[in-house]
Amino acid sequence: MKMPIPDAAILARREEIAAALRAIVPGEGVITAESERRAYESDGLTAYRTLPLVVVLPSTTEQVSAVLRTCQAMGVKVVPRGSGTSLSGGALPLEDGVLLGLGKFSRVLEVDLDNRCARVQPGVTNLGITNAVAHAGFYYAPDPSSQIACSIGGNVAENSGGVHCLKYGLTTNNVLGLEIVLIDGTILRLGGKHLDSPGYDLIGVLTGSEGLLGVVTEVTVRLLRRPATQRAVLMGFPSSEAGGDCVARIIGAGIIPGGLEMMDKPAIHAAEAFVHAGYPLDVEALLICELDGPEAEVDHLIERVEAIARDCGAVSCQVSASEEERLRFWAGRKAAFPAVGRISPDYYCMDGTIPRKRLTEVLSRMQEMSRRHGLRVANVFHAGDGNLHPLILYDANVPGELERAEEFGSDILRLCVEVGGVLTGEHGVGVEKRDLMEVQFGPEDLAQQQRLKCAFDPDGLLNPGKVFPTLHRCAELGRVHVHHGETRFPDLPRF
Ligand SMILES: Cc1cc2nc3c(=O)[nH]c(=O)nc-3n(C[C@H](O)[C@H](O)[C@H](O)COP(=O)(O)OP(=O)(O)OC[C@H]3O[C@@H](n4cnc5c(N)ncnc54)[C@H](O)[C@@H]3O)c2cc1C
Repeated sequence: MKMPIPDAAILARREEIAAALRAIVPGEGVITAESERRAYESDGLTAYRTLPLVVVLPSTTEQVSAVLRTCQAMGVKVVPRGSGTSLSGGALPLEDGVLLGLGKFSRVLEVDLDNRCARVQPGVTNLGITNAVAHAGFYYAPDPSSQIACSIGGNVAENSGGVHCLKYGLTTNNVLGLEIVLIDGTILRLGGKHLDSPGYDLIGVLTGSEGLLGVVTEVTVRLLRRPATQRAVLMGFPSSEAGGDCVARIIGAGIIPGGLEMMDKPAIHAAEAFVHAGYPLDVEALLICELDGPEAEVDHLIERVEAIARDCGAVSCQVSASEEERLRFWAGRKAAFPAVGRISPDYYCMDGTIPRKRLTEVLSRMQEMSRRHGLRVANVFHAGDGNLHPLILYDANVPGELERAEEFGSDILRLCVEVGGVLTGEHGVGVEKRDLMEVQFGPEDLAQQQRLKCAFDPDGLLNPGKVFPTLHRCAELGRVHVHHGETRFPDLPRF
């Protein structure tokens, strides 16, 4: 994985840049000591590490604005960072770039239950939002497994998902308003407490933009009322194929569960050993299906799901009998990544999405790849929306294993695209999938996406080296090609 070559002139100006930032964020808000910068050298994609030039930790929107304006004036790159849990290297620092940490933006500014929304700063954790409104019977629906740590600003930047997004939508469906700061320091407020903002859907553009278009300094999120009843069904299958078939049949029957997750045998064993969730150990695949809503509806849906599971050859079926048991069923799934981390020195978490009906085929081709690359794989995924999370197990201390894990991962993502899916589900592109973007998009698509980037950040200073395999100069992308003197669209007025 190659990053842009650091600019020697910027490296030489480190002290000058730090001094300019100290004038904006006084005290301990600017970090230059190597030992303290080391804490920021990587994110959740720990295979890659880089020491940032300087770390700045502003605590107000005005400071963020002044930091960005100063960086633009000095020609310095900026990498925004929330909690640093990104699994695609989105918050990987640049040697010649300022790391802009949003950790001090940690306040819930307003809870407005009449409008069913909350205004929060970007450093508030995902679970922190639910904790702030739980007393009134409300919650924030998107629930990444990292929710105790990841920030809502990072969730917006990655358009994060979670087990309950099948029914309640991803981050993009649950954000009503944003305050963002552009690279020239301009502060923009988009949307608000109301539904459906007029004009272009800039909130949609910003959500999932991976820190390349602007820095999020405030988020207004939609709150939902806790469902009256939530129950989970744990279903064990003799094969991944049978589990995959059951997923397709549940969705095909018109049932939209609150969550529908699948784990394969290695993931089941790792999770059970870690959190003792009560998972059956003699099955090849496990489905967790959560039904929520009024009690009578949930009872009815559970009966239907159990009948479908029996038809698909389920060898075990257990319905949660209490809230405690429901949470225990989920605890194993939510701890699956760290659990796999206990059985292998390193793992590489992939994230791709496929059409649900190709699940069985993709799982069996992944097993072939596992044999070919000589690396084990554990599968944990949001089966209901076809979002796969194969965890490739490797040991970074064994020469060549990281490279083999990367090749295996890239083969999996190519397979996702080949079967009609996409490179990313919810973890973003970052540096991890950057070089595969050309597998998914043609040159025209990529150029058009970069023109959008240019409209926000003409100098390419915000999080460069991420998402796009090659970052074109904006002037180059804006060029008008005149062929044989013929201008394209001659009837359109030129400004
Ligand atoms: C154990 C584990 C489980 C996970 N499970 C899930 C899951 O179920 N679903 C899921 O979607 N993800 C999951 N993730 C990935 C990760 O938690 C999410 O992508 C999360 O949204 C990242 O938030 P963060 O605050 O850590 O952002 P960071 O890692 O700090 O940054 C992520 C990206 O967002 C940008 N960014 C951060 N804050 C801002 C801001 N305020 N303004 C502009 N740009 C910003 C950064 O530049 C970077 O590109 C998991 C990660 C781990 C380690």
